[in-house]
Amino acid sequence: MRAAVREIAELCRLLRLPDHFAQQACEAQRDFPLFAPRPYVARMQPGESNDPLLQQVLPRAAETVDVAGFEKDPVGDLQAGVGPGVLQKYEGRVLLMVSGACAVHCRYCFRRHYPYQTAAPTMASWELALRRIADDPSLREVILSGGDPLTVPDDRLSALIEQIARVPHVRRLRVHTRLPVMIPQRVTDQLLRCLSETRLTSLMVVHINHANELDAAVAEALANLHAAGIPLLNQAVLLAGVNDSVEAQASLCERLVDLRVIPYYLHQLDRVAGAAHFEVPAARGRQIVTELRRLLPGYAVPRFVREECGAPGKEVLA
Ligand SMILES: *Cc1c(COP(=O)(O)O)cnc(C)c1O
Ligand code: SF4
Repeated sequence: MRAAVREIAELCRLLRLPDHFAQQACEAQRDFPLFAPRPYVARMQPGESNDPLLQQVLPRAAETVDVAGFEKDPVGDLQAGVGPGVLQKYEGRVLLMVSGACAVHCRYCFRRHYPYQTAAPTMASWELALRRIADDPSLREVILSGGDPLTVPDDRLSALIEQIARVPHVRRLRVHTRLPVMIPQRVTDQLLRCLSETRLTSLMVVHINHANELDAAVAEALANLHAAGIPLLNQAVLLAGVNDSVEAQASLCERLVDLRVIPYYLHQLDRVAGAAHFEVPAARGRQIVTELRRLLPGYAVPRFVREECGAPGKEVLA
């Protein structure tokens, strides 16, 4: 992560893009700067300003335009907090924001305005989060999220998992992460061990939006997770200019199932301020997913969902 690309000028140089690219986005960078790990940048096509991976990380002037209906906390996370770093919106599942850091800054992220400094737990407040989990016998699944929970070193992560496993009513551990895709070397032997040796049933949900994100190193990381007995699911976000076509979605889904990753959710974009230019009309998303059902086996088609404030679960659109 220390080696990640943080300067637009450097990104342009690496990708042999014209310098005027570097000038348009200074404003957009102020709250949420460019952050792109090199293994991910290496999968972008040099000279291609419309590259689907580049679109996900490049700050753009469009982010600074106010668009009605696009807000700072579109999914009500600030209301759903039940303690420091603990979010519970749905029955039986609680989400721990293990870290505020990510291995990449996705320009469409619904948490781009989230006050991680004040809301994310430190090691000390994990105690508090764990006490909440222990006090609520209806919780059967703990979701490690963030930010990205795998930005935490293996020793601390494995200590946290051990503590969760000590709560008798918790049965499953789910890890929501983009790290195996951004920096595949993050899938260390120690990580594999701490996910597979716990008494909890571990699952991992990765986040891949385009087939070009899946190179040989990512495939190997996913194969190692699978070999360790960890079911793999993918969530993607429907993004204008990145994956808003039947072809892009079909090749992503096919590639995922070839790598033993089940396409789980395709998310309608959360309406976060600064991301309006990524929005695809929900009706178009439905069309795409309906067409995927004709082309692909049932298990290869994700559910197209939207997150509604206050709803008991993700709303299924198709
Ligand atoms: C999306 C989400 C979950 C997980 O929902 P599933 O439908 O079980 O994948 C859990 N907690 C929160 C706060 C969420 O936003
Ligand atoms: S990895 Fe996930 S949480 Fe982090 S910036 Fe990207 S979408 Fe947001």
